Amino acid sequence: MAEEPAGRDKTVGSMTVPAANERPSRLAAAQRVVLSGWGGNPRSAADVIRPGSLSEVVPMLAEMRERSRSVLARGLGRSYGDAATSAGSVVIDLTGADRVVRTDGAVVTVEAGLSLDALLAWSVPKGWFVPVTPGTRYVTIGGAIASDVHGKNHHREGSLGGWVRSLRIATPDGEIEASPDGEHADAFWTTVGGMGLTGVILEASIEMIPIETSLVSVDTERATDLDECMRLMSAGDAGYRYSVAWVDCLRRGRGLGRAVLTRGDHASLAELESAPKKPRSVTPADPLAYSPRQLARVPFEAPVRLATLPAVRAFNEAWFRKAPAHRAGELQPLASFFHPLDFLGDWNRLYGRHGFTQYQVVVPFEAAEVVREIIEQLGRSGFPSLFAVLKRFGPANKAPLSFPAPGWTLALDIPLGRAGLAELLDRLDGIVADAGGRVYFAKDARLRPQLVRSMYPRIGDWQRVRDRLDPDGVFTSDLARRLHLLGDTT
Ligand SMILES: Cc1cc2nc3c(=O)[nH]c(=O)nc-3n(C[C@H](O)[C@H](O)[C@H](O)COP(=O)(O)OP(=O)(O)OC[C@H]3O[C@@H](n4cnc5c(N)ncnc54)[C@H](O)[C@@H]3O)c2cc1C
Repeated sequence: MAEEPAGRDKTVGSMTVPAANERPSRLAAAQRVVLSGWGGNPRSAADVIRPGSLSEVVPMLAEMRERSRSVLARGLGRSYGDAATSAGSVVIDLTGADRVVRTDGAVVTVEAGLSLDALLAWSVPKGWFVPVTPGTRYVTIGGAIASDVHGKNHHREGSLGGWVRSLRIATPDGEIEASPDGEHADAFWTTVGGMGLTGVILEASIEMIPIETSLVSVDTERATDLDECMRLMSAGDAGYRYSVAWVDCLRRGRGLGRAVLTRGDHASLAELESAPKKPRSVTPADPLAYSPRQLARVPFEAPVRLATLPAVRAFNEAWFRKAPAHRAGELQPLASFFHPLDFLGDWNRLYGRHGFTQYQVVVPFEAAEVVREIIEQLGRSGFPSLFAVLKRFGPANKAPLSFPAPGWTLALDIPLGRAGLAELLDRLDGIVADAGGRVYFAKDARLRPQLVRSMYPRIGDWQRVRDRLDPDGVFTSDLARRLHLLGDTT
């Protein structure tokens, strides 16, 4: 779709405010803002509109189509790369649409801009937890569904899309009510994991899971190297609802991939009552108490990159040594287990102005050696990864662009700004693709389009339904343009 020229806009700092007389109607309320993902790089400017209510979205889309303006929905911008940015487009910020609409037994219907943070604050004291949570609760429900996010329970319970019972989706032609097996099932599965390119999710009905306490009973083990870590996970994960390993990526030789493995499940009331050591905040009299706090915030972008090789090495050493060699049944608050990074607000600023990328891949179980290869090559090249996380995925769902597939998934935060990284990651992409694996779009800012079709072989099915939902090509993003997701992915 051809973009309307940006016009004579007024610049205020990094923000440019469009002249109202040149942009009548809904665009008059738009603000030109430079946006990025959580990794801070790349950045691009778009006209951001915040609808006052969800009823404004369909007319807004129709108007943008008329004006030949492309559109993208955005949540809390926690995708790392360029999934939620779109140079020169109209970006609809959904975060004002944040109501719990209704409940029906375990199923809660919410507006798409509601954050997981707000949903949990509402649901945990009532005895309900979200069926799938990513490693931060500062994501919106719409953004989480559009990325089909996974959590520490994927090996047993799949990704978020499998728990969504219906979606209300806005297109320029009107609204669609889509469900996984019923009406508009193809629109449903194209939108789940569809990275905002099929329409704007307005509301979602999600099946929640019951909990008796706001605690998780956690078993911790240290693994001396990657082989031991994988052995422990393969042998024991089926017995745990949640499982994740933090891996030290800077060790070489013996001890390569040493790890701290944490696994657990929601603690029952009986476990809380009989526990010799209980967290202060949750008692048998108030077992669902829940008040997670941010302990500190990084106030500004670090002038120099703080995640340097020696700093990361020291952190890894301390983190590994602090973990018990073996501990069973420790009761941890939900936030400590699921969202430890959220205790420090705006921690992405620690990476300085160059920002960072998260490299997350999944490879089939038979290709476990690729995980070792990635860790070895990064270690050898001296690219420090502060947080490296290893998980096992279970079966994939029906969404053609959903990331999870059976196998090992490794996620690494890597600082940008040093020569050689792009070439190294390009090489690793090739190894991952050859092994039948893929890169996660929600974390990506640098994959080459040539690899998309082999990594996401069902993309043709996705494009056919998407083209039907958006025949005029209203929706796009920087990610979609970079990876040619809307066509020509050869
Ligand atoms: C610290 C951290 C930990 C993370 N851990 C995990 C993890 O464990 N597992 C995992 O899967 N992901 C993880 N993520 C990634 C994150 O869960 C996803 O990127 C998620 O999509 C972010 O939600 P958001 O609201 O910030 O969406 P945004 O980043 O704003 O947008 C992401 C995508 O969703 C689309 N979108 C947003 N709202 C809508 C809407 N209403 N309708 C249609 N499309 C929409 C956007 O167009 C974009 O393509 C993590 C991210 C961070 C920062």
